Amino acid sequence: MTDIEKIELSTLIAGPCSAESQEQVLECARSLAGQGVKVFRAGVWKPRTRPGNFEGAGDKALEWLKAVKSETGMAVTTEVANARHVEAALKAGIDMLWIGARTTTSPFAVQEVADALRGTDIPVLVKNPINAELELWIGAFERLAGAGIKRLAAIHRGFSSYYERIYRYSPEWQIPIELRRRIPGIQVICDPSHMAGRSDLVPLLAQMALDMKADGLFIEVHPDPAKALSDQKQQLTPQQFREMTSKLVYHRETKPADQKQMQPLRNRLDDIDLQLIQDLADRFRVTERIGEYKKDHNLAILQSDRYKAISDTLTEKGKELGLDEDFIRLLFETIHAESIRCQINKKNTI
Ligand code: PEP
Ligand code: MN
Repeated sequence: MTDIEKIELSTLIAGPCSAESQEQVLECARSLAGQGVKVFRAGVWKPRTRPGNFEGAGDKALEWLKAVKSETGMAVTTEVANARHVEAALKAGIDMLWIGARTTTSPFAVQEVADALRGTDIPVLVKNPINAELELWIGAFERLAGAGIKRLAAIHRGFSSYYERIYRYSPEWQIPIELRRRIPGIQVICDPSHMAGRSDLVPLLAQMALDMKADGLFIEVHPDPAKALSDQKQQLTPQQFREMTSKLVYHRETKPADQKQMQPLRNRLDDIDLQLIQDLADRFRVTERIGEYKKDHNLAILQSDRYKAISDTLTEKGKELGLDEDFIRLLFETIHAESIRCQINKKNTI
């Protein structure tokens, strides 16, 4: 997948979750044209988790998007999930397509879309799969690239989690970071609307995304969110959208002078990281010696009481030092799991 090309993206892609009527679509588009939005989004076919909800206006909504294009000059984009959607969208002259989170989870569906796109050069945005599985996301890019689609970009819209969280979909910022490492040069657009699930949290997440070097933002805006037929809670009014964009801070490029200023601190970090690795190596040597003792004296490897006591003490200590409690627990869980693995290995190899 070496030949991914950049898409001409304006930083802002915005529009309603669903195209509901010609009036709603045009009213929304008029409120966004001239606000720095160069690409207008609206769902024509809506994948709903449960049946019985509004499933999109369907093909006739493509005409409304064409009207947006001719009246405002904005490019238009919509979601496609199967070959029929692709054919209809291409026929209507839609400028850019996106693959939704639920579709990205299904290799059959992605392959069907990729095959239907073969021979075209339309830009395609691929949302992350709803579950936190990077390989599925990468697989979708590979299928599209395999069908000759060159202009591809990612949309990071957060990941579903079983637990109730502050956000509707958990950001897991490390996943798009890893995606950028695995597909160098890929543009990553953030969709803070689906991530937040609540309009009041959208500006916060949008800024966080820019702080994490997002190449663009994909935002749901509705002329009257309370009356929206889908995703009511997370859509911004045009006024809220303007307020948000006027406050967003875009970062400048890091210059050599900045690198120079940060270098002494980076050197310190490098020293500390090296020390951490050495300490870990020492720690696991001690672990192995304890493992030998347990083996020689016929003791169980897992000593739950001791593990709990250490974990509590370290979490307390970490808190005292201003470290995040969940982070310390997770870190220690990882170290402990590795200790157990070392002792089991030792037991089976000696
Ligand atoms: C959408 O953008 O309206 C949408 C359905 O998104 P997702 O696939 O991220 O749920
Ligand atoms: Mn939506």
